[in-house]
Formats: sequence, C-alpha cells, structure tokens
Amino acid sequence: AVDRKSKSRTPSYMTFEDIGGQDRAKNELKEALDFIIKHEDIKRLGIRPLKGILLEGPPGTGKTLMAKAAAHYTNSIFVAASGSEFVEMYVGVGASRVRDLFKDARNRAQKEGKDSAIVFIDEIDVIGGKRSGGQHKEYDQTLNQLLTEMDGIHTTDSPRVLIMAATNRKEMLDSALLRPGRFDRHITVDLPDRKGRMHILKLHAKNKPLEESVNLDKVADETFQFSGAQLESVMNEAAIYALRDGLEKISQQHLSLAVDKVMMGERSDREASR
Ligand code: ATP
Repeated sequence: AVDRKSKSRTPSYMTFEDIGGQDRAKNELKEALDFIIKHEDIKRLGIRPLKGILLEGPPGTGKTLMAKAAAHYTNSIFVAASGSEFVEMYVGVGASRVRDLFKDARNRAQKEGKDSAIVFIDEIDVIGGKRSGGQHKEYDQTLNQLLTEMDGIHTTDSPRVLIMAATNRKEMLDSALLRPGRFDRHITVDLPDRKGRMHILKLHAKNKPLEESVNLDKVADETFQFSGAQLESVMNEAAIYALRDGLEKISQQHLSLAVDKVMMGERSDREASR
C-alpha cells in the first residue's frame, strides 16, 4: 500500500505516548480498541464487530499518528492510503485500488503472523463524499467498493480488519458511510489547548539542543490555535535559525522567529487558496 505520509513526516513506529495532548481523543480511541481486543467475548455474545472508526478534526492535529498508535496498541498490521490516491480518470481503477488495499492488509497480516490489520484511509471525504447519483461514476464506484469491503467484515474473520479513516469535513460524508456497522464510532481530534501544545513542544524538543534559558511555556503561549504539525514546524524552523547563526543551541529568540515564520506561512497559504 502507498503510505506517502510515513515516508515524509511520520515515523512508522508510533505509540500513544508519542502523541502530545489529545487526552480525550486518545482515551476514546483506546476504549474502542480495548473493546475490539476482547475478541472472544464479542464472539461469544454475538456483538456486531466494530468495523470503522472515523477521526475528524482540523489538518495536522495527529489523526495519522493516532491510527499508527492504534496499530501498535493492538499489535496489528498498518496499511494506509489517502482518498486522493483512488481518484483516477478511468472508471474502475479506484474501486480496484480499494480492493487491493484490503487484500494487501490481509496478506501482510498473514505473512507477519498477526491476527489483525488496520486499514487507514486519510482524506476519506475525497472518495466518501455524498454520492452524485451517476454524475461522477468513478467516485461512486470507489465508495461502493469501500462499502462492500466494510460489509464483508465478520467477527469470525482471520485476520480481523479494522478500518480507520480521517477527515476534516465530516459534514461532506455520504450518510451510507456513517450507518451502524460502518463508520459508527467518531472521535474528534481538535487543535491542542495550551497544555496540549506544551506537551507537543516538549516531544518535538526531545532530540534538539535548547539553551538552558529557553522557556517553552512562552512558546506555548505564543502558539494559540497552532496544530501539532505547526508546532513541529516551529521546533524545526528554530533549529534552522540556530544553524544559520552558527550556534550550537536553540535560543528563545530562534523560537519566537520560528513562531512568526510558521504563522506567516499559514496566512500566505490561506490567501493563496482564496
Ligand atoms: P492531516 O489532516 O493533514 O492528514 P493529521 O491530523 O493526520 O493531518 P498527522 O499527519 O498525524 O496529522 O500529523 C502531522 C505531523 O505533525 C506529525 O508527523 C507530527 O510530527 C506532528 N503532530 C501532529 N499532531 C501531533 C501531536 N498531537 N503530537 C505530536 N506531534 C504531532
């Protein structure tokens, strides 16, 4: 499966401890996963298996990290794709890619001796948007294939498959995706609050030399409404400023400059997209 994100920004191995803030979302997710792990009880009581978990929230808040941590937590294979990868000019290609993704997950689980797999689909709204009624046949077929895969999951399956998906536009999703037995568990992954920002900054400062006088609390104050991805950028840009100044350690001023830079970058992105 294609997993572009992990190649660029996210390490492939991820635990819930590596995710800053998001306490409520992490707890909700763990609770859902604990339920899945109690597999024998679920079978015994004839409970409908949990098939789909939808993570929703603004970009860069850690939804992909959550899905990866979920795979680690449940000792599952992790395969990922982004909704936009299924969009092709030719009818049928998207649907066959969906099929391949699930096949790949099952094959890998078998090969690696794991009894579960998590299939993560980022930007699910690209294929899971409200169906067009024939106008966009390709998108409809891709979504239908995903629904078929979900409906084909049973409690007795080996390996068990759990589908996680992420979106920042839940209201755009086709109601067929949200029905019971499909993505019926929703977890909101919001922008971090001050405490969350502090936690994320600390995580991303771990491998960076900071001057003793640096006060990360001040950075947490200056980064109201920053996402985790932006906070990661702040730490990275600050390190680049230190390098440019020929210094061994990152100073408070480097951090403040980095905050401005990330804030400006965000503003120009927004203006460009208008
Ligand atoms: P998108 O909606 O754009 O797909 P996302 O919510 O899936 O974004 P991630 O891809 O999980 O966001 O996060 C991008 C990067 O931002 C991560 O690799 C990590 O470096 C950083 N990051 C985001 N959130 C957190 C967090 N809560 N704790 C630590 N790092 C974070």
